Amino acid sequence: MNRVGWIHSALQAEHDTGTGHPECASRVQAIEDRLTSSGLVDCLELSEPEALPVDALEAVHDPEHGARIRAAAEAGQSCVDSVDMPISAGSYGAGLMAAGAAVAGVDQVLRAGCDSTFVTTRPPGHHAEVNLAGGFCLFNNVALAARHAQAEHGLKRVAIVDWDVHHGNGTQHLFEDDPNVFYASLHQFPHYPGTGARDERGLGEGEGATLNCPQDPGSGDAEWLGAFEGELLPSLESFRPELVFVSAGFDAHARDPLSATLLTTEAYGQMTRALLQVARTLTGHGLVSLLEGGYDLEGLASSTAAHVQSLLED
Ligand SMILES: [Zn+2]
Repeated sequence: MNRVGWIHSALQAEHDTGTGHPECASRVQAIEDRLTSSGLVDCLELSEPEALPVDALEAVHDPEHGARIRAAAEAGQSCVDSVDMPISAGSYGAGLMAAGAAVAGVDQVLRAGCDSTFVTTRPPGHHAEVNLAGGFCLFNNVALAARHAQAEHGLKRVAIVDWDVHHGNGTQHLFEDDPNVFYASLHQFPHYPGTGARDERGLGEGEGATLNCPQDPGSGDAEWLGAFEGELLPSLESFRPELVFVSAGFDAHARDPLSATLLTTEAYGQMTRALLQVARTLTGHGLVSLLEGGYDLEGLASSTAAHVQSLLED
């Protein structure tokens, strides 16, 4: 069995999105409950994260981005930047904790010797732009973690595989002109946020380091696994990263209310195993996996358990 870390913090529940909002604290609780009831938690190395220092946000965000979110939360605003970004008094602290957890996930693999790690990052991150929160995302957790791997661990080339059902517009835009960060996404298209067309392949020196594999609404395991194994993984192998991140959203599940994609729980186990095999060969490590979306509590819990189970298998 592989050494796999699990990083989560109770503080993330203090990001309160209001009654009935799909991106709610119950999501992380459902994951925790399933990892516990299944016994998987006994196989994981738990770690409490620390909040990301405020100035570390500037690795990917404009300096005023964090200050604006802090001011909005402290002023009691009900949302920041857009109506699909509800906040509460605890949101700024929870956002910094989620970002800190993402960064700690890198350290757990590159410093503490775990093969992989799964981080229950909440709020999620992949829609957060350089100076704009949105799509339930305050800070771009996976982008901050990728820059941390480069700045603190001396890695040059890193890859982000994003299988959330929504395109990660923020992550793509943050790295689209960077030839050393490969961003590859499978997502429903057309769908929120509207980006992620196949011809978006990166800009300037970064051309070719962005791969979008848009999938039609109604697609299921056959289409997604076909694109994942037939297109995404070969491109990843060609890029030759030194570390592979997963923007692990589970909202392409058939039960999810925010998509018309029809993945089974088992598809997440299968994508995890296939990606893990490629990552190990290329990097000598497993995966740094960060939670993004997933809004049906049963679909989220079962898919996360399948993902974690696959990370543990030799
Ligand atoms: Zn999503």
